[in-house]
Amino acid sequence: MPLEAPLRIRFLVVGGGIAGLASAIALARVGHEVAVLEKDDGQSNSGHHGIRIPPNMTKILSNWGLKPQLQDVGLVSRILLFSRLENEELLGTQVWDYEVLKEMRGEFLLTTHAELHRILSDAAVAHGVNIRYDAQVVSIDPDLGQVRLASGDTLSADVIIGADGETGISRDVLVGQHDRGTPVGMSVIHTTIATKEMPDAIRQANVIFAGFGNGCGAAAWPIHQRKEVALEFILRDPATEGTWGDAPCTDLSALVPSPCDPRVRLVADSATNAVRTVIKDYSPLESWVHDSARFVVIGQAAHAFPAIAVQAVAMAVEDAAVLGKLFCHLSSRDQISSFLWAFQDIRQKRCATLHQVELGYIWFMTLQDGPHQQARDEGLKERYRAGKNVMSAEDGEEETPQWRDVRATFDYDCEDHADDWWVQWGLLRERAKSPEASQARDLVFTWSNMGVAVDQSTDAKRE
Ligand SMILES: Cc1cc2nc3c(=O)[nH]c(=O)nc-3n(C[C@H](O)[C@H](O)[C@H](O)COP(=O)(O)OP(=O)(O)OC[C@H]3O[C@@H](n4cnc5c(N)ncnc54)[C@H](O)[C@@H]3O)c2cc1C
Repeated sequence: MPLEAPLRIRFLVVGGGIAGLASAIALARVGHEVAVLEKDDGQSNSGHHGIRIPPNMTKILSNWGLKPQLQDVGLVSRILLFSRLENEELLGTQVWDYEVLKEMRGEFLLTTHAELHRILSDAAVAHGVNIRYDAQVVSIDPDLGQVRLASGDTLSADVIIGADGETGISRDVLVGQHDRGTPVGMSVIHTTIATKEMPDAIRQANVIFAGFGNGCGAAAWPIHQRKEVALEFILRDPATEGTWGDAPCTDLSALVPSPCDPRVRLVADSATNAVRTVIKDYSPLESWVHDSARFVVIGQAAHAFPAIAVQAVAMAVEDAAVLGKLFCHLSSRDQISSFLWAFQDIRQKRCATLHQVELGYIWFMTLQDGPHQQARDEGLKERYRAGKNVMSAEDGEEETPQWRDVRATFDYDCEDHADDWWVQWGLLRERAKSPEASQARDLVFTWSNMGVAVDQSTDAKRE
């Protein structure tokens, strides 16, 4: 059971996406009053495309008691298959070891954005969170702790959380201007297709399939109890606009290379719900916390991951979990600012590191044909021929750098890091606030201070 915060304060969350809902759960379950303001109607702000939930995120949702709901919708995946996109040539495999995943206290789950979104919004409501739909925030005044809605209503709170994504107004408040992001020249096209139209290879097991093409790549995995497959196709693309919720794009079939793995070709040719998200570079925010210490950004608003990144959703949930863990210790208002700065300290480095790791994966997956691509493919095939996982160590090597990265990512328990901060710094700060009081307390001689249990009832009888 989580600790209940000794002091209950009011939070307003701008944005009812994954980050917004997750932070609402994390804060409400430790006793705070939380309202979420979502501009959409509660349907159009979730997507029907695939999501991979890595172990570092499943362990948080399990801690929050959501494991049964996740197991209902998610497929547990333990196998990754790597192949050439043009000709299905198998390059290698990665099988997650059951014992290793157990040690990491999390599974790799496959589901959709809409299913995850529904689980989180149901949980938020169950924790007493007030979710207001059709509530578009048009301005934020961090100094006053106020937001104004398009309807004209003004709402106030002790702390405002900006969870409105990379294009929302929360980033603008911190940057001081609207950051449109710079297209990097790549897009991801997301789609889903019924598996009855797919050959067995993809639907038989809960396999994540990764196809490496010439300057492009694809990832696919089963969803909806294997009745459908989700596909992401990443390519070099001059398009400059395209995001979640846009109308379906119609050119996927023309965009995938020819010749192409027939499974990917089939998906591309029959896709009717494909959505293009253009990958943009957003300048990193120096600070996620406003000087007023009443406003903080989280999720995509704080750290915009490309839409193909496995860790995009997980980072939003980790942000939320850390906020919840810190604010469960709130006993006076003067702690708010130190908790928000602690949140930034704990999260900024982790997110920046994983952002780089994800960019590395994109580079690796989409190498153009040439010496680097040949070296990549040969390296993978060599391991496969030797019966090894793609991330297995070479003889004499303890672990590969790739495995080190993956282990550090999946093993990480963000809630432990928040607890460590509290023990190392938070408690210290509390004690430092009243040195005389604590000194005096320490100097008073009592048997219980000496660790001796006194039977009070015997004393009482004597009297
Ligand atoms: C409609 C939609 C569909 C998506 N579908 C998928 C998917 O299928 N697969 C996948 O991997 N990822 C998907 N994503 C992206 C995924 O949610 C993010 O990559 C990541 O999980 C972090 O999300 P976030 O909550 O920080 O930001 P977002 O997901 O961008 O959520 C931001 C939320 O804030 C709301 N909002 C924005 N401005 C305002 C405002 N002014 N006032 C009130 N509310 C506001 C938005 O409507 C949205 O609900 C989708 C995102 C959206 C918005």
